[in-house]
Amino acid sequence: MPIGKLVDLWDDAVAAKLDEPGKLLYRSNLLGSDLRITNFGGGNTSAKVKATDPLSRQEVTVLWVKGSGGDIGSMKLDGFSTLYLDRLEALKALYRGLDHEDEMVGYLPHCTFNLNPRAASIDTPLHAFVPKIHVDHVHPDAVIAIAASKNSEKLTQEIFGGEIGYLPWQRPGFDLGLKLSKIATENPHLVGVVLGGHGLFTWHDDARACYQLTLRIIQKAADWLEANAKRPAFEGEKVKALPAGERAAVAARLMPAIRGRIGKDQAKSGHFTDAPEVLEFVGSRALDRLAPLGTSCPDHFLRTKIRPLIIPFSGDVDIAIASLDGLIEAYRNDYAAYYERCRHPDSPKMRDPNAVIYLVPGVGMISFAADKATARIASEFYVNAINVMRGADGTDTYVGLPEQEAFNIEYWLLEEAKLQRMPRAKSLAGRVALITGGAGGIGSAIAARLMQEGANVVLADIDQASLDQRIADFGKVFGKDVVRGVKMDVTREDTVIASFQETVRAYGGIDIVVNNAGISSAAVVEDTTLDLWNHNMSILATGYFLVAREGYRLMKTQGNGGSIVFIGSKNGVSASAGASAYCTAKAAELHLARCMALEGAPFGIRINSVNPDAVLRGSKIWQGEWRQQRAASNRIAEDDLEEFYRKRSLLQRSVFPEDIAEAVYFFASDLSAKSTGNFLNVDAGNVVSFTR
Ligand SMILES: [Zn+2]
Repeated sequence: MPIGKLVDLWDDAVAAKLDEPGKLLYRSNLLGSDLRITNFGGGNTSAKVKATDPLSRQEVTVLWVKGSGGDIGSMKLDGFSTLYLDRLEALKALYRGLDHEDEMVGYLPHCTFNLNPRAASIDTPLHAFVPKIHVDHVHPDAVIAIAASKNSEKLTQEIFGGEIGYLPWQRPGFDLGLKLSKIATENPHLVGVVLGGHGLFTWHDDARACYQLTLRIIQKAADWLEANAKRPAFEGEKVKALPAGERAAVAARLMPAIRGRIGKDQAKSGHFTDAPEVLEFVGSRALDRLAPLGTSCPDHFLRTKIRPLIIPFSGDVDIAIASLDGLIEAYRNDYAAYYERCRHPDSPKMRDPNAVIYLVPGVGMISFAADKATARIASEFYVNAINVMRGADGTDTYVGLPEQEAFNIEYWLLEEAKLQRMPRAKSLAGRVALITGGAGGIGSAIAARLMQEGANVVLADIDQASLDQRIADFGKVFGKDVVRGVKMDVTREDTVIASFQETVRAYGGIDIVVNNAGISSAAVVEDTTLDLWNHNMSILATGYFLVAREGYRLMKTQGNGGSIVFIGSKNGVSASAGASAYCTAKAAELHLARCMALEGAPFGIRINSVNPDAVLRGSKIWQGEWRQQRAASNRIAEDDLEEFYRKRSLLQRSVFPEDIAEAVYFFASDLSAKSTGNFLNVDAGNVVSFTR
């Protein structure tokens, strides 16, 4: 697909107010803001800046270069590492050759200027030794398409007419830095280099000119690909895309089926996309030829694994699901064989052999990873890979990175060390929870607790405005990836089913369901209308049933167990005058939970209840009528209710939404792996609700 025109966003008025590091940051953010220029987290930028040494007071040259981690689009000044250029130069004398690349990484911290704690990246030498002040390194799909073509060197010459040099694929490191330095020094007319199978380097002594140069070179590559591409792309269509609604429905059935099979040890989060470029590729005649070649750029395959898994789809979802065991098994065997073929004596142990990317002709692309953001980003990287394949296959022959090279990067000891330093996964990492009444006080306290532990949360609520507000607030705290909202009326079977489908499509499956949406009412029996009775029953008893049943069905087909938590009430176990409809419906909930616990046990699906009492804060139930009635029946002022309930409890303490959330977390997590059919009172002690 043509990329259109890249726009020069540099504003001299903005740049004029910035110092050199500020200008470098400005340039980096501009470059990274456009995914046509570089993929997420890909590429790095640098400037060689004069500064005063804090000890000697002499003027020194400092290399400012994007450090390890982060993304040039969103980085701040602290994302750059700073190193003495003369010390980096001095490392050349220590370099012992290609077999000793890794030890050079250990020297980099010794070159740090001004105690900057940002770790220098492995690409540092690639910037340090280029004899120009400003250097951009980016991963544009258009340039990688050329870099991943069989005749990449010839194409580079043809397209850029000698202003851009070429270096064949080589893993980034000290040696590649020396080679870049050599080609730039010996060929002063060059303004940059295409790195085979990797990306683009460009350089200039002026910051703005460097930025514009990078844009110009990428545009040139994209325009050339567009003008020279064979049509139709990927040899044309083989499988027609289903209508959008059907694609979504197929994804909602396939995702839990895949997730159940690959997430036995560690729950995985899923992502689904049916973007036009994905549908074009998965439905094309070239799919079976190109996909097995694997991705080319290291950034791509580190995120997507070397190859995707193709799920043949004839239009019958049951057949596709039945084929999954064989397909997944074959993929794992292939991966293990790749590991065995390529491993070195000191290679780290084989990692998860399951595919990350699943391609379904006519439907789209599904991805699975340890958390939602990683699954989404993997999917975006595979779209980058599709763009690269389209460009390369349309004009030349696409080549993946040689298998051994891919392995050496994937299982690089320094990469392994980085993984080992990562914090341990949280207790609910990768799990998916749906919470009804999620926008309310107790519901959102539960959501926050589960997200703190790494869960993805779908808030289901009938109140769209509160839902939107909660999602926006949670997005700021926990990140947008881990929270979604669905408008749900728990009394309507169709919206309950649709909400679960949406949940599954958003995250791949379901592990935790919290039945929390509630109402309350008070009336003596003779004044309880049938409407009031039915209203309580439909939301509390029937609503809990519909939501629990749908979650239970999905958990059963997913096959990895699960936890369903009912928010009951003290009134579910102890009778209370003046609220028979409410109390009876609450009792029905508790008994439904126990009946389901019986049926769910063989499948590892646990159902437990939490019984709060008098959680006034943040509760919609405790506003309006119910509040007035409770105050009246206890002959106290409304504002004294909280104090009244506190004093009534054995422990003389108030119960807050966070207290309920803690109990829900206990039942949702493996802490309660050996509990089902239970209930836990969180009511500061009430003798009437003691179990007996
Ligand atoms: Zn790179």
